[in-house]
Order: sequence, then structure tokens, then C-alpha cells
Amino acid sequence: MSCSQPGLISLDVALADLLSRIQCLAEVEYCPLADAVGRVLAEPIEAGVDVPPADNSAMDGYAVRLADLQRGEALPVSQRIAAGAAPGPLEPGTAARIFTGAEIPAGADTVVMQEQTESVGDRVMFTASASAGQNIRRAGQDIQKGREVLAAGSRLTPVALGVLASVGIVEVAVYHPLRVAILSTGSELVQPGQLLAPGQIYNSNLYLLQGLIAELGMERVDLGAVVDTLPATEAALSRAAAEADFILTTGGVSVGEEDHVKAAIEKLGQLDLWKVNIKPGKPFAAGRVGDTPLCALPGNPGSALITFALLALPCLRKAQGEQVSEPVSFPVSAGFSRSRTQSRDEYLRVECDAEGVVRPYNNQSSGMLASLLYSNGLARVPAGTLVEEGQALRFYPLTSLLR
Ligand code: AMP
Ligand code: MG
Repeated sequence: MSCSQPGLISLDVALADLLSRIQCLAEVEYCPLADAVGRVLAEPIEAGVDVPPADNSAMDGYAVRLADLQRGEALPVSQRIAAGAAPGPLEPGTAARIFTGAEIPAGADTVVMQEQTESVGDRVMFTASASAGQNIRRAGQDIQKGREVLAAGSRLTPVALGVLASVGIVEVAVYHPLRVAILSTGSELVQPGQLLAPGQIYNSNLYLLQGLIAELGMERVDLGAVVDTLPATEAALSRAAAEADFILTTGGVSVGEEDHVKAAIEKLGQLDLWKVNIKPGKPFAAGRVGDTPLCALPGNPGSALITFALLALPCLRKAQGEQVSEPVSFPVSAGFSRSRTQSRDEYLRVECDAEGVVRPYNNQSSGMLASLLYSNGLARVPAGTLVEEGQALRFYPLTSLLR
């Protein structure tokens, strides 16, 4: 049911094309595990040990041979094994006092929790039936020695750091943070902190991109704002290409006489793509300045963020050496209806409630950035689709789009 405008490229085709042109641009370096959160692994990591390294007790209790319980008699306690101690073999016909996390002594095949025992002098009596292997955590049940724990291109989360520590890793090969030049075009832009003269607005996109790049753990090369002339735009793009691995611009990429980004790219490098069949975000462009890849986001702040999330971010991740996967999305139900269709695939700023019902923010103008502050995701309405209440839509949580 596609009724796309001529000359517009679908999001999927645009993204696949952009990604096919991008390769990893970052150098490999070594980083202590403790400092590696958010970094991207440059080499796969294989487990050098089992986790846990040996069978151990899941309970405070007694380690026994199941066969010794069959007679129903109290057993003498032959040793005490705390976590961290190396046990001796279990003497036949005895029980070993054992604590959670302590290694199972050779010969024991069962742990009985202490709540199912009674002390009788220096012996212990078992008050419930037991089964072989109960309450024993087997060596390697979490991770087996030799297994690939993480592939190259994985982003290191706090959980990943914990798992790598569990296999004894102290240092990791990661990619140096990508250097990303950020540039806003627009003669109307002023930095916060200055007074607004008539006709001026504060430069919000610069701060938006600074935050997004910082959250990705990339290095930003701040090039500030550039006025709307071709020479100024060219000079700023040349500087960006000289100082960074990747360039992000906002504004100046539409069809007006004051839009110079496209012409500057064509002069200094190559334009690979312009105009995508999405709303908001149609004027998005991409290409390179010299050899440096560039994503040119529209100036409207709502469009800038949405095209960043859907198009620029996967490119940045790939250039950083990260494996790019589809953002997590799930089906939700429309809590609204619409009698008009759109000719582009629309990404509505919506709030998804706990029942999986989405409602659009009341103003969907591409110039609105606050609409994204008060939404928790985007709902996709395919081109040409009428929305009826209760209709299934796909929802992209902002947290998954931007991480
Ligand atoms: P443009 O894509 O340059 O035509 O800009 C479209 C709209 O977005 C205009 O209303 C601009 O004033 C606004 N805009 C462009 N750049 C920024 C920016 N850095 N911060 C806030 N608004 C902007
Ligand atoms: Mg402009």
C-alpha cells in the first residue's frame, strides 16, 4: 500500500545503501576492563575458564552421598567447607557442613539444605527426601570454557563487564572512540547565554547532537554554527573533514535558496542520497566530504532527532566498529484514529501506556523538539494507511532507538 512521492527513497533502501558504503573507521586500542563500559569490542572474547569453575553449593546445608541417606540414620559431620575453602574428599558415610558458593567435596552428589536437617549432638539427621544432584550448581553452567562469550563489534554494557570479569578478563581490545564533527547551519542561530535579537533562535540541535554523541561514548568535534552562505558552509565542511572521522550537520539541506549543504557536499565530495520517504525527516542527505562520511540532518529539531535515530545512528555505529542490529520494536494498539492518509511513512511521536496502547503527542510539527521530550517512542504509520482505534501499529521505544 505504498504511494510514495517520486524521487523519495524508502527508509529501508536508504539505510541499506548508506550502511553498504560505511566501514569501521576507528583504530584498535587496549582498555582496562573497569574503564570499558560503552566501548566497542575489536576482538571476540573466548572464555578461558568455566563459570563457575567448579561444582558448588546453592544452599547452606550438608553435602552428602545420596546412598548414605537411604538408611535414614544420622551422619557424622566430617568437615566444614566455607566459600573460598578447598574441600577434601567426602569420607564415605559422613556429611560435610557446607555453605552457599563453597566447592562440593569429591564424592558428594547431593546437598541438603539446612532447613531439612536437625543436629543430633555431632551428627546430622535428614528430615526430608532428597534427589541426586539437588542444590548443586555445576561447573560451567553459566559459561563453558572455550565458548565465545562476546563477538567483535559488541558494545560493552555493565552486564558484559561483569561477565568478562567472571571469565578473568582484565583488559579488552576496543575501538578508539569515533571523532564526530557536529555542525549546525543557519544564520538565525544563537548560542544560549546570548540575548536573542529579532529573527534569531537558540541553537538547540547542537546541544541535542552533543548529548547524543556523548551518550554513544564518541568524541565530538564541536564546530558550532555556520551562516547560510556557500563559502562558509564549504569552509566548515572542509574543516570538519580534516578534524573528524564522521560529520553530522543540521539544517540547510532542503530546497530553499538559503540551503547550501547539498551544493557544498557535491563540490567537496559526493552526495550519495537525498530525500527519504519519511515524515518527518524528508530532506535528510548523506554522502562524503573528501573521504569523510557525512549525514546531513534536516534543521527542524524534531526531524533532526528522528533522522538521527533512524538513519545516522546505524551509520555511526558501523563506523565505530559496532555490529548494527535493528532497533527493538513491538506491536502496539492505536489509541486514536485518523481519517487522512499520508504519502510518506510517518513516525508519530507517541506515548505508549502500560497496556500497549499508543496515543500521539498533540503537536506533530517537525519543528517541535519538546514533543520528543514528552513521548516515549515513535509509532510507524505506513504511507497510505488510515488509522482506526485499536489498529496494530509498530512501536519503537526511544530508549531502544537511541542507545
Ligand atoms: P532548515 O532545514 O535549515 O531549513 O531549517 C528548518 C527549520 O529548523 C527552521 O525553522 C530553522 O530555524 C530550524 N533550525 C535549523 N537549525 C536549527 C538549530 N540548530 N536549532 C534549532 N532550530 C533550528
Ligand atoms: Mg536553515
